Amino acid sequence: MASKRDYYDVLGVDHTATPEELKKAYRKLAIQYHPDKNPGNPEAEERFKELSEAYSVLSDPEKRARYDRFGHEAPGGFGFEGFGFSATTLSDLFDDVLGGFFGTTTAGGRRRARGHPGEDLKYTLELTFDEAAFGCEKEVRFPRGETCPRCEGTGARPGEGLVTCPSCHGRGEIRSQQGFFSISRTCTRCAGEGRVIKNFCPSCRGEKRIRMEKTLSLKVPAGVDSGMRMRVGGEGGAGIDGGGPGDLYIYFKVAPHPLFQRWDRERFPAIRDGRENDLVCEVPISFVQAALGAEIDVPTLDGRVKLKVPPGTQSGKVFRQRGKGLPVVQGHGRGDLHVVVTVETPTKLTPRQRELLEEFARASGEDTHPLGKGFWDKVRELFG
Ligand SMILES: [Zn+2]
Ligand SMILES: [Zn+2]
Repeated sequence: MASKRDYYDVLGVDHTATPEELKKAYRKLAIQYHPDKNPGNPEAEERFKELSEAYSVLSDPEKRARYDRFGHEAPGGFGFEGFGFSATTLSDLFDDVLGGFFGTTTAGGRRRARGHPGEDLKYTLELTFDEAAFGCEKEVRFPRGETCPRCEGTGARPGEGLVTCPSCHGRGEIRSQQGFFSISRTCTRCAGEGRVIKNFCPSCRGEKRIRMEKTLSLKVPAGVDSGMRMRVGGEGGAGIDGGGPGDLYIYFKVAPHPLFQRWDRERFPAIRDGRENDLVCEVPISFVQAALGAEIDVPTLDGRVKLKVPPGTQSGKVFRQRGKGLPVVQGHGRGDLHVVVTVETPTKLTPRQRELLEEFARASGEDTHPLGKGFWDKVRELFG
């Protein structure tokens, strides 16, 4: 991987650039390299990402301070919250002319601090068919940003706390005279808070969170399927500065079963009255069993059951086993199991078997194939 370019170089500004200069430089370049303006140009896309990343760090006073101090070596990079490249559209960049895009300021110019909520996390949980069918308890292990225990999320070296911002002397805003006008803007060093961290916490280096492995025990309800997801409230990344935690989303991925398949209209159009918690099992029977009728063993999720196949059963015939399907997720009852019988035609005949079948054919004459007879009658009608 190529080493990262200096964020100030990326934006083409000095290290002393004011927030306004940064914003101006970013907007000019971001519009120039925006993917919407450069379709199919990977270089422009790279450049745009680089710009977005540089700006997202330098436009945040705390991140900028950390970057100025540690460069790209800051622990965990600056990537915890993601940079939302795709979220920035061209119109966002133009809307920014009106000043709405990068955080609101109150009338007094003091930014209201309510903290940043933690991010939502996504976890893919693989389950066997039986685990999904009957429910289970699973341990999941994943990394997440947690409040730094050393500084308790302040980002400051323990015991030191905050000091009055030397730039604005605690006022949170900076006034300047321009002709007749007195202009005041939010202090960038303290983001309007009036106080800044004196020395960064040595554990999180001011990040306020650290990356930790979290293990959770999850109760998976019975009947879940691939594509379903479960929300675990408050188990996402920790919030910053009093913001609430994000949520954890569990996405299920269920392995196929060697014998059973979930019913769906596309795959089993012959079973028109199937429902979403129904299962299908294809059971082969011999042509003798089909003709004479038989009692066969069929598998279900709960073990084998006996099934009476009546004499004269055709291939593809469906036998419904009530309540032998999948449980309804967080509901009551279970779906049905549809047993589809497939009549197997023997492929290897011994001379004796062949002899018997030929005798059988002679004995039954045209009545051997009641359905087939109708078919050949139609062929004769059409072609003579
Ligand atoms: Zn810390
Ligand atoms: Zn200040």
